[in-house]
Amino acid sequence: MTNFITRFAPSPTGLLHLGHAYSALTAYDAAQGARGQLVLRIEDIDQTRCKAEFERAIIEDLTWLGLTWETPVRRQSDHFDDYTDALQTLRDIGAVYRCFKTRKDIADEIAHAPHLSPDGPEGPQYVGEALAAHEERSLLAEGAPFAWRLSTSRAVHTANKIAGPLKFTEEGAGPKGEHGTITATPEIFGDPVIARKDSGTSYHLASVCDDALQGVTHIIRGEDLFPATHLHRLLQVVLGLPTPIYLHHRLITDDTGKRFAKRDRAATIKALRESGQTPTGIRRRVGLP
Ligand code: GLU
Repeated sequence: MTNFITRFAPSPTGLLHLGHAYSALTAYDAAQGARGQLVLRIEDIDQTRCKAEFERAIIEDLTWLGLTWETPVRRQSDHFDDYTDALQTLRDIGAVYRCFKTRKDIADEIAHAPHLSPDGPEGPQYVGEALAAHEERSLLAEGAPFAWRLSTSRAVHTANKIAGPLKFTEEGAGPKGEHGTITATPEIFGDPVIARKDSGTSYHLASVCDDALQGVTHIIRGEDLFPATHLHRLLQVVLGLPTPIYLHHRLITDDTGKRFAKRDRAATIKALRESGQTPTGIRRRVGLP
């Protein structure tokens, strides 16, 4: 066996569709080709949207497609402590600050100065700052809810001291054909929320922690997640995590060129299976041998 570990990391918020099948099969084939391993991760930190029935359906669909993976499967909701520890590291190095603002507060601020917050991958590139200590103390005493935001400029400063300019290796392609050594520009996110008010973590934080904890060497996923890599590289460096290789792949679209979404019932693996399609037929349909 070689040192090649890749992963499939679905969110159980609906049934898997052809786009997921392509992603899972691409990761599985790559692991087989490299005599490596595929690990599975259920990304269910958003407990309001994720459902156990969808997790069961994911396992059923992947098994039917012919995939096998290492066990145990990692379920993020079982590991909130790991994300709290990572957040503590970010707090210790002064790379995060508490943000008590509501979405509306931020939208109002941006409406007054739109030139300060151009759009990034997750909406406006909002950059805030920590409150004065006495203001923060009184809000905390009132029990006011807050999120933790990454101070991207501080984190980049720290990362540059540790590892020099931030880069990642793309062996697949980004949406604009980006390939090879890519300069990471996490500034495109502004100061992103890294620990949400409700869950105490975020997709970005949980994902980079888990990739390291699961020993993932190759991250294979859709090109829609290419921009997130800029931020993930930054988090990996400041958290002292290993550097994986990235392979972003094209997205599977329907006949009209639109990406499949969880609401497209006809394209779900379950519906296709029930209509008599075979796993080989699904492979062919998404352009895999
Ligand atoms: N959970 C994410 C999704 O279902 C995938 C995240 C990743 O592969 O990094 O879109």
